[in-house]
Amino acid sequence: MTGRRGLGLIPAGAKVLATVVGLAIVTAFYWFFDGHNTVGLGTALGVGMGAIVAAFILFAGYVYRDASRRGMPPIAWTALALLVPNGLGFVLYFVLRKPIVHPCPKCGHGVASDAAFCPRCGQSQVAADVRDSWKVS
Ligand SMILES: [Zn+2]
Repeated sequence: MTGRRGLGLIPAGAKVLATVVGLAIVTAFYWFFDGHNTVGLGTALGVGMGAIVAAFILFAGYVYRDASRRGMPPIAWTALALLVPNGLGFVLYFVLRKPIVHPCPKCGHGVASDAAFCPRCGQSQVAADVRDSWKVS
């Protein structure tokens, strides 16, 4: 798996946010539950909570980028993925997401791989060699 496909797709901002929020949660738990002088159960809980929240932020960043390149509304899908409880929003996203769009050879607009024509310029998306083979036969 290349970087572009997996974690590399997550925006840098989401990675920074996940790190900052994760560390803030750990610090908060350490401060309030362990009386900011010992590392105990509160801090351990904080590490767990921080990791879960950070993972959610990273997933949200991934959904945002991935939805954009598939021609799906990214903000709506990111909100859905975050708001549907127990991570079911993420499951829904991965079940319902569309295939990755490819650029139209004429105008460069993103076109779904199963589309016959470009939605912007109307250019046929059937490859030229396929069209020629139809004409011959
Ligand atoms: Zn086009």
